[in-house]
Amino acid sequence: MHEQHQELLAQAEQLDHHDDLARYRDSFHFPLDNKRQPLRYFCGHSLGLQPKQAIENVQIAMESWRYQGVDGHFQGGKPWLSYLDDLNAHMAALVGARNDEITVMNALTVNLHLLMASFFRPQGQRTKIVIEKAAFPSDRYAVRAQLRWHGLDPEQHLIELAPRDGERLIDEAQLEALLQEQGEQIALVMFPGVQYVTGQFFDLERITRAAHQAGAVAGFDLAHAAGNLPLKLHDSGADFAAWCGYKYLNGGPGTLSGCFIHTRHHDNPELIKLAGWWSNEPETRFDMTEQVNWAKGADAWQISNPPILSAAPLIAALTIHNDAGMSALREKSLLLTGYLEQLLDNLAGDICEIITPRDTERRGCQLSLRVKAGPEAGEKLYKRLRDQGFICDWRRPDIIRVAPVPLYNSFLDVRDLVLCMCAQTKHL
Ligand SMILES: *Cc1c(COP(=O)(O)O)cnc(C)c1O
Repeated sequence: MHEQHQELLAQAEQLDHHDDLARYRDSFHFPLDNKRQPLRYFCGHSLGLQPKQAIENVQIAMESWRYQGVDGHFQGGKPWLSYLDDLNAHMAALVGARNDEITVMNALTVNLHLLMASFFRPQGQRTKIVIEKAAFPSDRYAVRAQLRWHGLDPEQHLIELAPRDGERLIDEAQLEALLQEQGEQIALVMFPGVQYVTGQFFDLERITRAAHQAGAVAGFDLAHAAGNLPLKLHDSGADFAAWCGYKYLNGGPGTLSGCFIHTRHHDNPELIKLAGWWSNEPETRFDMTEQVNWAKGADAWQISNPPILSAAPLIAALTIHNDAGMSALREKSLLLTGYLEQLLDNLAGDICEIITPRDTERRGCQLSLRVKAGPEAGEKLYKRLRDQGFICDWRRPDIIRVAPVPLYNSFLDVRDLVLCMCAQTKHL
């Protein structure tokens, strides 16, 4: 092997050795193979690993239920009424929002619907929604359903922005041009933070500014951005956003979702919220008043009492996240994903092409790899990696998505993955 390549491979140990965040790896359970050996996990973009603390948090909740019954709301190891404040504070720190701009509830798609109930109010000529053409299906289903809910035909009122011909990434300038041309017809722009297939990170502030100049609302799905990149949601000016708690946030399958609602909307009585008893101020929640006495800020969007058993592991995970800190995580992430990129370019350039932006400002930790030998070889490579104990993700027709997660992945993980890829190609 080339001397330069040997040197690059040898860096992994040094990089791990100097990694201040390496100790967090031990805070997570890694899935095991059938010989009970830990797998190498690169699927944090789909389901983050289980924090070891999660089970204890669940047990505390179970014991309160067992020994305190209904009093568990106020008593026991961790009173249930305290969960929401904890979740909000942790989430706010992670996404760059004020605590009262955040509320944590339901699942992501449900929250997109609830937020659109407030923020998508088509009127007169202004009836259209803009999404990206390659949007996650759940998001597309949701916006189409919202249009129909308002009596609007999605074929007429949904604009799907595609990359320019021959390109895979959308340029924010395309969206700006669209908003300049058709702005008066557009009610809502709903865009991802990080695009789930390509890993492209969009400029939330720029998109928001363009939407607002056209008189439209800017909402974001941050499923692949929250916990992946430092965000400045408040400063971005976004009207609303939602994300799930189980991808980069490691809160457990189907756990609660985070919502952001910018302060400028909090006291607007025109904004319709789909209320429930949990929309009330905490102090009067159990008073059973005839009218809602609205909670402050984003908590006014709450509807039902929260599922404590699913909040418990999320609190464990967010605690670890904030202990490590989003800016330190990003610092490591840049090195870790940069190392993967360097290895791929040097050793696997014949095997795959990186379709994720090369500019680190336009991506998080994920790299999406197009396998050059075509869809069949690509799927085969993905399966062979799996057989060798490397869990990545396969997106038809030809993309392997790899997410080295700074909280629990090491530089050795990354090195071994690329070496395994190179070793497997002779079988394709
Ligand atoms: C993961 C993901 C979802 C999942 O939605 P749930 O309602 O949590 O099942 C939706 N949208 C995007 C963009 C996602 O990445």
